[in-house]
Amino acid sequence: MMLKTPNEIDIVRASTSKINEVDFENLSFGNTFTDHMLVCDYKNGQWGKPIIKPYEPFLIDPSAKVFHYGQAIFEGMKAYKDENDDVWLFRPDENFHRFNKSAVRMAMPEITEEIFIGGLKSIVDLERDWVKKGIENTLYLRPFMIAVGSGVIAQPSTQYRFMIILSPARSYYSGEVKVIIAEHYSRAANGGIGAAKAAGNYSAQFYPQKLAQEKGFQQIIWTDDATHTKLEEAGTMNVFFRINDTIYTAPTSERILDGVTRKSLIDIARRDGIKVEERSVLVDEIIAGAKDGSLKEIFGAGTAAVVSPIVGFQYQEHYYELPKIENSIAIQLKEKLTKIQYNLAEDTFGWTVKV
Ligand SMILES: *Cc1c(COP(=O)(O)O)cnc(C)c1O
Repeated sequence: MMLKTPNEIDIVRASTSKINEVDFENLSFGNTFTDHMLVCDYKNGQWGKPIIKPYEPFLIDPSAKVFHYGQAIFEGMKAYKDENDDVWLFRPDENFHRFNKSAVRMAMPEITEEIFIGGLKSIVDLERDWVKKGIENTLYLRPFMIAVGSGVIAQPSTQYRFMIILSPARSYYSGEVKVIIAEHYSRAANGGIGAAKAAGNYSAQFYPQKLAQEKGFQQIIWTDDATHTKLEEAGTMNVFFRINDTIYTAPTSERILDGVTRKSLIDIARRDGIKVEERSVLVDEIIAGAKDGSLKEIFGAGTAAVVSPIVGFQYQEHYYELPKIENSIAIQLKEKLTKIQYNLAEDTFGWTVKV
């Protein structure tokens, strides 16, 4: 894929690097940031020039719209380093398009490909020493946009800030994940913002998630808000069910985030002759499958953990444990996707982009 880079992107380098202070073997997810950040401001109806500068806090007026009305969107992506020290992005065009879809839904301005993808390329290139080799290492990329215009009148802001910050990460092992199926709370509703990567979708989950954790479950499987009978997402991941040898996942909709991991796993599975159906999966179906043994696997899919196998689920005070299986499709798909991302397998899809 050809990438446009901004013809002019100013870089102000940090005078010293923090890289030698970082223990790359013992990173906790999302707490360490690289030396630089990208900033691009929107005002008077247009985007200004992006600048890459030292990572640092910045000032915003206390009345900025982001604080009061939550105009905030983001993306989650990763950069990967291969054995030849080449650094790769994975399907950045997908994140770019989704970011603009989120922007439109939140009445925020769309951004250009030059700033989003070109900016990512520039800052990842500058920080390439922070991307460590080996499939247990990645650089997590966090592009986001906030409303910085001041004034507490409930209207969309006229000023915005787009930023990219980067955080080195180790592969994410979520441990044994037990989930509880939502019977009351909802993540998203038709006509709502569930298909946007909006900050408020996350804060709205924290309370039900806390209740689930108090009961001993790591995640919630979200159901449709109207009937709570259709299985839709697992926490902040898309969710797949394997019944016999077919895998099922809900079709994307206004309530479901169109995950890049989700669509990539579907394409890999289909290429390799695994049957995939995109259709609603009912709570009743997986309970029947758990009882008769046809439900073999449940797994979440998202950039952070790639694939997160689920060991059992709770519904109406009853816990259903999945059998331990060999030849997990979840694990096979995870390995195939990871190999493409790290340039260890041929990328027959043309998904990877060299920085
Ligand atoms: C980000 C996100 C996903 C996963 O999307 P990826 O592009 O695969 O990282 C799934 N569901 C929700 C609600 C999300 O916010």
